[in-house]
Amino acid sequence: MKKCSSCRGNMEKLQSATPEGFSYHYYRCIKCGEEILDMKQLHVVADKYRKVKHYRAKLSKWGHSLGLRIPKEISQKYHLSDKNDVILVQEKDGIKIIPV
Ligand SMILES: [Zn+2]
Repeated sequence: MKKCSSCRGNMEKLQSATPEGFSYHYYRCIKCGEEILDMKQLHVVADKYRKVKHYRAKLSKWGHSLGLRIPKEISQKYHLSDKNDVILVQEKDGIKIIPV
């Protein structure tokens, strides 16, 4: 059993996930609530990040709006076609596109 570095209390193993859906384990002290993420878990999460391909897409002007070109690979993966509607969710660092 892992011991808390600040109060020597027992730590429980918990699971959480990044906003991208990568799950990882961390420890939380049952006594004082101190949370730690071990280095091994950090590397696991960082590795998963590296394996996800990032796409760069160009915006084009469409009247007063902007059009976004979605690469074929992504549209196939998420089953998008020109008949689909999507929902744009405004988030702190960007926009999330959710197929309806
Ligand atoms: Zn503690």
